[in-house]
Amino acid sequence: MANPLYDRLFGRHAGNPAPFLHTDCGETISYAEFVRRAARLANALTALGLGPGDRLAAQIDKSPEALMLYAACAQAGVVFLPLNTAYTGAEITYFIENSGAALFVCDGRTRDTLAPIADAAGARVETLNGDGTGSLTDLAASQPDTFDTAPRSDGDLAALLYTSGTTGRSKGAMLSQRNLLSNAETLAAHWSFTSDDVLLHALPIFHTHGLFVATNVMLLAGGSMIFLPKFDLDRMIAEMPRATTMMGVPTFYTRLLSDARFDRDLTAGMRLFISGSAPLLAETHRQFEDRTGHRIMERYGMTETNMNTSNPYDGDRRAGTVGLALPGVELKICDPETGATLPQGEIGVIEVRGENVFQGYWQMPEKTREELRADGFFITGDLGMIDADGYVTIVGRGKDLVISGGFNVYPKEVEDALDQQPGVLESAVIGVPHPDFGEGVVAVLVPQPGAAIDTGALAAALGETLAKYKQPKRFVVVDELPRNTMGKVQKNALRETYGDSFT
Ligand code: AMP
Repeated sequence: MANPLYDRLFGRHAGNPAPFLHTDCGETISYAEFVRRAARLANALTALGLGPGDRLAAQIDKSPEALMLYAACAQAGVVFLPLNTAYTGAEITYFIENSGAALFVCDGRTRDTLAPIADAAGARVETLNGDGTGSLTDLAASQPDTFDTAPRSDGDLAALLYTSGTTGRSKGAMLSQRNLLSNAETLAAHWSFTSDDVLLHALPIFHTHGLFVATNVMLLAGGSMIFLPKFDLDRMIAEMPRATTMMGVPTFYTRLLSDARFDRDLTAGMRLFISGSAPLLAETHRQFEDRTGHRIMERYGMTETNMNTSNPYDGDRRAGTVGLALPGVELKICDPETGATLPQGEIGVIEVRGENVFQGYWQMPEKTREELRADGFFITGDLGMIDADGYVTIVGRGKDLVISGGFNVYPKEVEDALDQQPGVLESAVIGVPHPDFGEGVVAVLVPQPGAAIDTGALAAALGETLAKYKQPKRFVVVDELPRNTMGKVQKNALRETYGDSFT
């Protein structure tokens, strides 16, 4: 019996002696060994009473064993639910309760705190530590290294990934086997991945970027990954000459550029740098090309949809855009009020449809109906536009749109204008309550190292380029912008901090 996700990603590598993971401690794990060790874990899950369709929630550090747990779930038909390592006990309670997880796997460090929470929610608890040890590993050690793969089909759930939930409760995006596999197949082909590729992997694996985009693509291609626990500048620079590709969030790129060792020679063996999960500044794109000769390839996706667009591999990679709709993905720009498709060139909400789009939110039929249309289009909540050549530009999240005096202000446009001013490294534009205008624009600025920002001169300069209603009514200079682990600027936090600017 078939299990498409397991068979295509893992099963076919059962006898493959090629390297899959180069670990942090200098070991290499072959594909064949990875598959055997994952099978032991699959047996352990079965011994614990888990079966097809059950949910396994895991809040564990990144490690080869954590990735094996993903493979084990696929093989046993268990729905994998990886959780951000930053989540607190209160948040974990919600995820376990909401998902009805049968098993919660945590780090030994947090067991004492989290076990009562899991108990109360009816989940068993096992541990898996960042060094690969733990009660689950102990249990797996005595299990056979082959496992009778659970039959699954395309529509069966493979993973439940909770959205980052910057507003309201986070929702469990139900991802089917086909959702994951179709997207990985598209990306591996589109980005020309082969078994010769060595991916420098420093992303977390509780998120779609590090788990599905990076890992699934490499599994399909049969290449290997230098698997680092997290982004560490020195390690990245030391490992770069061994790699051929890297996937990162924009902060990876700005941090690499901040180091003089990162140059053309160091990246001579690289064939591709990919960026996503947050906007890459056009300026970073240009600096990167000047320094290394490589043009970063930016793509756009999200938890619910996997990847939707990418700049071309062969062809014009345009700074500040997220490229073209991927093969098999339909993308349109719609009126936020009516849902009607807007003419090319206008700004509206991005909607996408394709095999990549999720099955709905776990046990939230109403939320699902609000965001996933009956015809299969998902309302992303991102605002964007498509140019005459089909390139998509993201202008911000719908909820970040500022309406000042009845006029729409797209934060990205103001941020772009600010970022071009002398002394400005980066900026974030938010709208906060204003007694006259409803909302007033506030600009939060980070200066370039050693530079001072003259906000008076800045305001005057913007007066030349931006309509009055778009101009910030307040400027704030900070050392750095609040970001989450995926490099996304936390505009909610900024709105909270500067919410009373005009009241
Ligand atoms: P997540 O579900 O955590 O992956 O977040 C998805 C959101 O990240 C999208 O809805 C976008 O708002 C944002 N995002 C992802 N990739 C990009 C990109 N290349 N440029 C701008 N925003 C992006």
